Amino acid sequence: MRFVTCLLASVAFCSLLSLPAYAELDVARLKQSIETSFESNYPKLDALYKDIHAHPEIAFQEEKTAAKLAAEMRALGFEVTEKVGKTGLVAIYKNGNGPTIMVRTELDALPMEEKTGLPYASRDKQNYNGRETFVDHSCGHDIHMASWVGTAKTLVAMKGQWHGTLMFIAQPAEEEVAGAKAMLADGLFTRFPKPDVGFALHDGAMAYGNVTYRVGIGSSTVNGLLIKFRGRGGHGSAPQNTIDPVMMAARFVVDVQSVVSREKDPTEFGVVTVGAIHSGTAGNIIPDQALVVGTIRSFKPQVRDKMLAGITRTAKAVAAMAGAEEPEINMDEGAKAVVNDPAVVGDAEKVLKAAFGDKFFTTPPGTASEDYSEYVSAGVPSMFFNIGVYDPERVAAAGNGGPPLPPNHSPQFAPVPKPTIQTGVTAMTLAVLSAFDQRAKGQ
Ligand SMILES: [Zn+2]
Ligand SMILES: [Zn+2]
Repeated sequence: MRFVTCLLASVAFCSLLSLPAYAELDVARLKQSIETSFESNYPKLDALYKDIHAHPEIAFQEEKTAAKLAAEMRALGFEVTEKVGKTGLVAIYKNGNGPTIMVRTELDALPMEEKTGLPYASRDKQNYNGRETFVDHSCGHDIHMASWVGTAKTLVAMKGQWHGTLMFIAQPAEEEVAGAKAMLADGLFTRFPKPDVGFALHDGAMAYGNVTYRVGIGSSTVNGLLIKFRGRGGHGSAPQNTIDPVMMAARFVVDVQSVVSREKDPTEFGVVTVGAIHSGTAGNIIPDQALVVGTIRSFKPQVRDKMLAGITRTAKAVAAMAGAEEPEINMDEGAKAVVNDPAVVGDAEKVLKAAFGDKFFTTPPGTASEDYSEYVSAGVPSMFFNIGVYDPERVAAAGNGGPPLPPNHSPQFAPVPKPTIQTGVTAMTLAVLSAFDQRAKGQ
């Protein structure tokens, strides 16, 4: 089933799909009709965005945020199930026979203090690991939520032009790479339909109006690094009677970088960072243990496996050199790389290229991690793309030696709401329509 009914505004889009020669012109007109609808929806989206921004919530505590989204989706006619994977929600909209297309947003913010000075800046605090802390939407998940609601509004308004099921999910705890797993474990694809295609977007420090994407790998696999070197404590003046774990930790931090520089293929991405060392209390005491904490990033499983093997060998060798017992080593996987499906990207690419022109372009994979990969691993062919948040002039100035742009997770991260959300809604709506149409053709 494909675009059975073509409303006036999208007659051209329907013909685009059978007459690709006119693709650019037709998508441009469809884009314009989406933007006209966005313009009338924006005052409410703006209020929703600023409310969510001013009242952010940390991983698995996003109860008020989820309730706000649930109310929006119910008002649009979606069937909403709350508390999926603790604080997540699933909103389903059925519109005849056809494929199920998933659109995902995250719900969570970060435990840090916002320093943007914006009138709608967050001053809220929450309990995080037993301590009260400021909370800030400094990863821009509030932009994603506003774009998610805006896309749902647009697609419902255009329901004569597609057939199938919309599955809009709002996921908790992305920052802890735990929310996707929690939703899947709570029956996301058994209590609800398993989507034929999935989409998600993330904002970042580039010019608004830009949409970037990748075919294949888009983000890194993350493994934690936790090594406990066990020595034998004693007096700082008599090291011969001890086994010094600080020496082991220091040697490990230096030697482990040879795994990256000498064992891993230099043309492949891989990073090992030690971010914390915990050991000892005073200068004249040799402690009895040292804890080394870090992170390991890679794109490909074979590169990750090679690094894990090298790190294990290095840690054991360092302990053996000191005459210590074997260290405790933990390198659990946090999230896999997000891998975009070539067919899904191929379908969306044609429409998004026609809509955004040279503002839609590919970039190398990012080294950050993202638990959207869990849905891909569960068998949902997907496209994950990025949108920019800053004034293009400010971006150009930064490129010419001006003030640097605050990135995601900076206390100064401050998207310009309207053009950013508009790009999110337009790109996501077009991507979903491309997936409905292509799957309908295949039926
Ligand atoms: Zn983040
Ligand atoms: Zn994020």
